[in-house]
Amino acid sequence: MKALKYRGAWDVTLDEVPDLHVTGDDDVVVEIAYCGICGTDLGIASGAYPVAVPGTTLGHEASGIVAEIGDAVTGLAVGDRVVINPTPYCGRCRMCRTQRINHCVNKHGTESGVSYDGAYAGRFRTTSGFIHPVPDHVSLRAAALTEPLSCVVAGARKLQPPGLTAHTFVIGAGPLGLLYTWVLSLRGLTPVVVEHSPARLAFARDRLPVGSAVYGSLAEARAKHFGDPDAPLDVVVDTTSHLLEELFPQMAHGGTYMSIGLKEKVAAIDTMLLADRSLSVIGSIDSLHGSFVEALHLITSGRVPAERLVSHVVPLEDYRTGFAALGCDLDARVFGPADQASCKVLVAPGGRHE
Ligand SMILES: [Zn+2]
Ligand SMILES: [Zn+2]
Repeated sequence: MKALKYRGAWDVTLDEVPDLHVTGDDDVVVEIAYCGICGTDLGIASGAYPVAVPGTTLGHEASGIVAEIGDAVTGLAVGDRVVINPTPYCGRCRMCRTQRINHCVNKHGTESGVSYDGAYAGRFRTTSGFIHPVPDHVSLRAAALTEPLSCVVAGARKLQPPGLTAHTFVIGAGPLGLLYTWVLSLRGLTPVVVEHSPARLAFARDRLPVGSAVYGSLAEARAKHFGDPDAPLDVVVDTTSHLLEELFPQMAHGGTYMSIGLKEKVAAIDTMLLADRSLSVIGSIDSLHGSFVEALHLITSGRVPAERLVSHVVPLEDYRTGFAALGCDLDARVFGPADQASCKVLVAPGGRHE
């Protein structure tokens, strides 16, 4: 089978590797239909997020068809349509026993597709507890957004907005920005999205929940949406991870600044303001207890229109096109902000077009 391997910064290769098969009683091997490209993948490939283990197959947002199951697996059968939870945890360590499975100390790294072989490949092997059936009425394309949505559900749980009228801003209209907009909307907020790229802004415009809007700058969002250039910033979800230092002094009293981009950036903030204005600065990564199941529920129930956030589907052989659509040009070795009408880009190792 083919597998997209991380070798080092700007060194990603599509290799022929041996097919994966069941080796343990509880193993499940999935033939990958779709695997979403995540900002994490762009960071790894470009060297900006230097956490991946060289030689690892990338890809962690995947759906597919069960190809093989171990003898002890129950409740799953060959041919089942499934989605994969790529974030391993042991359930026994101190982190797992204290509501922090995303920081399990018994996983040797972060997740499949970063520290373990992932799903930009013909097949992926895991154990049955990390496999979730996908109902017939949900496409495998939509199901591939379960993992990023799970991260958003986990992050949204940490946000405690000061009431449903909180002025809520989501910076960036990429997949996480739009998923945060939907999840916060389902919690009763009305997020306003800020996106500098006109192409991305246009893609996002008719994929927003009722009441939400997207603007080309924060200044425009404040002035046009709220009719006040100094409209309070009660909640800011920053998917770029670049704006904390600039926006922190502008946060409204009791406000919350959430930073979720995996980009290295050191920011200085005034700790007197932090206390004096009752501000919160929070981060979030990966899935937490039950968030994967909740995310799948939001997709299967139609509450989050996951498939509409898919902008591109490319065969595995064309992964460079997919990465480039998100601003990561592997040939020119340039990684900048995406300026195409791109949102969630799916790689299709099996050439499926369901
Ligand atoms: Zn991801
Ligand atoms: Zn653990």
